Amino acid sequence: MVPQPFHIQRVRKETADTFTLELISGKDGGSGGFAPGQFNMLYVFGVGEVPISVSSDPRDRSTLKHTIRAVGTVSKALQQLRKGDTVGVRGPFGSSWPVEEARGRDCVIVAGGIGLAPLRSALYFLLASRESYQKIVLLYGARTPDDILYRPELERWRSQFDLDVQVTVDRAGHDWRGPVGVVPALVRRAGFDPAKTTAMVCGPEVMIRFTVRELESRGLDHRHIYISMERNMKCAIGFCGHCQFGPTFICKDGPVFRYDRVAPIFGKAEV
Ligand SMILES: Cc1cc2nc3c(=O)[nH]c(=O)nc-3n(C[C@H](O)[C@H](O)[C@H](O)COP(=O)(O)OP(=O)(O)OC[C@H]3O[C@@H](n4cnc5c(N)ncnc54)[C@H](O)[C@@H]3O)c2cc1C
Repeated sequence: MVPQPFHIQRVRKETADTFTLELISGKDGGSGGFAPGQFNMLYVFGVGEVPISVSSDPRDRSTLKHTIRAVGTVSKALQQLRKGDTVGVRGPFGSSWPVEEARGRDCVIVAGGIGLAPLRSALYFLLASRESYQKIVLLYGARTPDDILYRPELERWRSQFDLDVQVTVDRAGHDWRGPVGVVPALVRRAGFDPAKTTAMVCGPEVMIRFTVRELESRGLDHRHIYISMERNMKCAIGFCGHCQFGPTFICKDGPVFRYDRVAPIFGKAEV
């Protein structure tokens, strides 16, 4: 429960409201380990603590990256921090993307907005063992071209021949040549074999709902669809009950769930 001091090594502006903090441990200068999809509680001293997914490469033990959208009190306070400042870190917590179970299968990664952050860790993992997977497809939706996260990386991945990257935006000006529309629509024409595909989905709840529907209509079984659920949480270890739904705690049983296991509670507002 005690936050450990981590120092900010670099702040990278991703978009107008989103930034990435690169952190190193004040104790040993490393990042600590984590599994793709897990999150940390980041504490701004005197302001508060928020759950933020780890967005870095799980093999990289030098820094810990968190990509944060400034939406309210704590995330805006995090946005004010600069190189050399200290934040408190508790974690990593929670379940992870099924990158091991997906070996030998096609992988479809579907991300909306900031949902690309926790999925980037999974992508690093998949690409590091590229020969273990069949097709890898990334379908990503942003509000506008200016809101696209990790542009240089997406462009690099797109130019590789072992990964299919499709990016769509909700609205765009005349200089955008890519698709305009919501990300679930990309699922319809994506190249994967539903009989041997594992899907990993993260984004706003409405986007997840429609994506699951599209995956279902392509013939994907709910047992092979994984989603990440976001709920307000405080303790992150299943004590406080803020994120509890009956026997399920989003913080310790999730945030990544196999869809068939959470279908009944998915979409319900928190209690
Ligand atoms: C497991 C998990 C992983 C997350 N990973 C990331 C990440 O990688 N990057 C990132 O930017 N954000 C992430 N979030 C969301 C992030 O925790 C919230 O944006 C943050 O807690 C908002 O706190 P605040 O003090 O900045 O805003 P507040 O002042 O508390 O609220 C600002 C607004 O955001 C709404 N809000 C607050 N918390 C949430 C929430 N959890 N879900 C939806 N709406 C919320 C409030 O209702 C309010 O309208 C994650 C959340 C969870 C549960």
